[in-house]
Amino acid sequence: MTMSSVKIRGGEVFLVALPIRRPHHWVGHTARIGEGYAVLRLDLESGIVGWGEAQVIGTWGGDHGTRYGETPAMTAIAIRDFLLPAIAGQNVTEIEQLHVRMNRALRGYPYAKAAIDVAAHDAIGKIYGLPVYQLLGGKVREGVEIAHSIGIMDAPAAAREAAEVIAEGVATIKVKIGVEAERDIKVVAAVRQAIGSAGKIRVDANQGYRTWREAARVLSTMEKYDLIYAEQPVEGLHAMAQVSARINVPVMADESAWSAQDVLEIVRRNAAQMLSVYYTKPGGFAGAKRLLAVAGAAALPCDINGSAEMGIGVAADLHLAVSSPEIVLAGTIPITSTAEYLVTKVAGHKYLDDIIRQPFRFDKGVLHAPDGPGLGVEVDEAKIAKYRIG
Ligand SMILES: [Mg+2]
Repeated sequence: MTMSSVKIRGGEVFLVALPIRRPHHWVGHTARIGEGYAVLRLDLESGIVGWGEAQVIGTWGGDHGTRYGETPAMTAIAIRDFLLPAIAGQNVTEIEQLHVRMNRALRGYPYAKAAIDVAAHDAIGKIYGLPVYQLLGGKVREGVEIAHSIGIMDAPAAAREAAEVIAEGVATIKVKIGVEAERDIKVVAAVRQAIGSAGKIRVDANQGYRTWREAARVLSTMEKYDLIYAEQPVEGLHAMAQVSARINVPVMADESAWSAQDVLEIVRRNAAQMLSVYYTKPGGFAGAKRLLAVAGAAALPCDINGSAEMGIGVAADLHLAVSSPEIVLAGTIPITSTAEYLVTKVAGHKYLDDIIRQPFRFDKGVLHAPDGPGLGVEVDEAKIAKYRIG
């Protein structure tokens, strides 16, 4: 191994917007998915490249403004002007050292750092000829059971989409709620009626209920539709703990859970009993593994979740999920299709095309991690050029 084969030269950021199957809305989210995400190509001196992706959304953040939204343009500036200069010339295999340097150069911006962390792992995997899951500890399972997210839509449309998704082999439906009590209950009832007793239903309010009393009332009413858990009903750990104390279904933290320290606080307050884990919120695989270690120590089951990843991000989700024993719940990972290969018509189908050549194997509701070196995906640079917006 020569130094030039591991030395970081620099990189390029592409802002990419893919065509979408349908708009996907949740409480507080007014932009459309795929409006533009940041894609990073990390270049080594040797010519080896690594790819990363950050699904940033300006209107999605943590509790009470403690974690900010990022727009794609902000992420591009963070990467180009601060983070890449901080790691240029460094050894790509020294992941912890790269994070120390990035954190010194710019506080926060976990999504930008996650794109770099994932691109670095992709490059390391290519150097050693190993899939990323092998770098993360090896596989504890072959793939991830997929949950399909029903965005905010009316009850008949939600019922129709849920039935189509179950027919395509996905067993868990995630219903977006947090809009208005009676509307939310009506939609969950319609979905339960459409899928019968076989499918599982989880709900996600995206902090939407104004008070914990309102959230507790709505969720208690919904219990008769057999919810497996309720994600982020309210904003802030105090309110989350109040809801947790009053309903029978487990509460999952998403917007409240970004870092290992957040998980410690959630456990201390019993604010949630499950966690929604992304590779982006903790700033990449390195931070995600720390978060998962704390979650595992506290026996909090986790899912893998995100914000409508494109192909590079889906690959990152899969490598993290299959190498993490703490991730036992079905995850809302998109099921990638391309313009050339349609894998599912509705289930997990977010985009009409993608920036990778080969979709992932989807079988009996499970999406499989690819086995090639690095992320195991071949990025289609012609598609990046086609869908580039910045
Ligand atoms: Mg969520």
